[in-house]
Amino acid sequence: MPKRISHWIDGKPWAGVSERTGEVFDPAAGVVAGRVDFAAQSEVDEAVAAAARAFPAWRDTSLAGRSKVLFAFRELLNEHKDELAAIITAEHGKVLDDAGGEVQRALENVEFACGVPALLKGGFSENASTRVDVYSMRQPLGVVGVISPFNFPAMVPLWFVPNAIACGNTVVLKPSEKDPSAANFVAELWARAGLPDGVLNVLHGDKVAVDGLLTHPTVRGISFVGSTPIARYVYETGTSNGKRVQALGGAKNHMVVLPDADLDLAADAAVSAGFGSAGERCMAVSVVVAVDPVGDELVDKIKSRMANLHVGDGRRPGCEMGPLVTGAHRDRVTSYVDAGVAAGATLVVDGRGHEIDGSDAGFWLGPTLFDHVEPPMSVYTDEIFGPVLSVVRSGSYESAVSLVNDNPYGNGVALFTNDGGAARRFQNEIEVGMVGVNVPIPVPVGYYSFGGWKSSLFGDTHAYGPDGLHFFTRTKVVTSRWLDPSHGGVNLGFPRND
Ligand code: NAD
Repeated sequence: MPKRISHWIDGKPWAGVSERTGEVFDPAAGVVAGRVDFAAQSEVDEAVAAAARAFPAWRDTSLAGRSKVLFAFRELLNEHKDELAAIITAEHGKVLDDAGGEVQRALENVEFACGVPALLKGGFSENASTRVDVYSMRQPLGVVGVISPFNFPAMVPLWFVPNAIACGNTVVLKPSEKDPSAANFVAELWARAGLPDGVLNVLHGDKVAVDGLLTHPTVRGISFVGSTPIARYVYETGTSNGKRVQALGGAKNHMVVLPDADLDLAADAAVSAGFGSAGERCMAVSVVVAVDPVGDELVDKIKSRMANLHVGDGRRPGCEMGPLVTGAHRDRVTSYVDAGVAAGATLVVDGRGHEIDGSDAGFWLGPTLFDHVEPPMSVYTDEIFGPVLSVVRSGSYESAVSLVNDNPYGNGVALFTNDGGAARRFQNEIEVGMVGVNVPIPVPVGYYSFGGWKSSLFGDTHAYGPDGLHFFTRTKVVTSRWLDPSHGGVNLGFPRND
């Protein structure tokens, strides 16, 4: 019997039954492993009401009280990281070690939020005017919504939830319907850490649940991560309903290899960042830009490394790359392989024939490499989100930079070189939010913030770290006079500071 996955509202599993449900797969076995409830508007209202009820007491909980819960959650998450990784692998398909890496990076975001008493300090100016003091404070927004994608079912929710909660907000999390169980496990850990009922609620579902949050008058802010068309829609709908919105979108990440680069290092990086998590990462490298004359040698080195990749069920020892998340997604990615061949790109490695260490019914596609890809081809223009790596040949540093800057996405980019001057010039000129120099997946550490440019992010605030605190708080500035409150009588002039 497939298991049923339902909402977590007001500190406990939801008692009702949704009218609509969706299938959750075990992608390595290719079978339906569960059914997830799809919230109706009434269920959205219930979750938001629970968060609204919890808000007044949580916002008034001292910083010491809030950070105590965060520290306790950090310990529980660390203690249960292997269990959480197994839940991720079962529904997403990424190999266990990769799922463990996701949880480890999530821990960084929790650890950052544990420092909330120091991080939320405001400013104070004594005697800004004579015997007048001015000070600022940061206050929570209220109920906020977090809407997350399938590819990091634990880490992306934990980019937002710890900061939102640390700042005194209450949260309704709408995780991806494709791998919903990780969010429920995490919510239980929060409850065990002492988080009061209603401060974090998990609402499962599809567009109905998302639209319910985007238009709900009680919801004050929305943090979204997903594909660019939905990110744009969420940003436009949320802001037109008066909400603060940050909406992180899709990506097409380039890795530029200059002629002086260490080509073995670059080939290792291209394979790791291109095929890790089967390419289902928003920071995956999907285009290698080989600057003349390194193309032939680099393609040979990438090809030889791909032959040894162990693809299979992520629960089996030694597997390096798992299946794609659903059969429909695998078919969509495979259609890009067909389209690349039809458009005239050189298919160097055809992943459709790769040996698989797993069930025949799984949603497999092996690592695939195209060379001589041209910018108009769909393998170049579209975010494929699968194990398909394209090599574009470039005549010069300048044309490589133009290619990256002309691309509508601007999430991550990497440069491989041994020339510090070239690297400095690149980081200055490139129109991308996160840059790696000899580092292929430059995901910023938890005390910086994560965000792309152009069509990879709508809104002006990046995720987690200092930007996260900014997003989840409103600033209030107080001007006060206590000593000598006498004044010179009625004065209709604009107040001057002297
Ligand atoms: P998606 O856009 O299909 O779904 C994201 C969320 O939006 C899910 O919770 C989903 O239920 C909801 N959703 C889907 N269709 C909707 C609709 N029509 N109306 C309202 N809500 C809808 O994305 P996905 O396939 O789950 O995730 C992969 C995408 O996420 C890729 O494009 C990837 O690049 C992107 N991503 C970006 C980042 C980043 O930081 N920029 C991080 C991770 C993933």
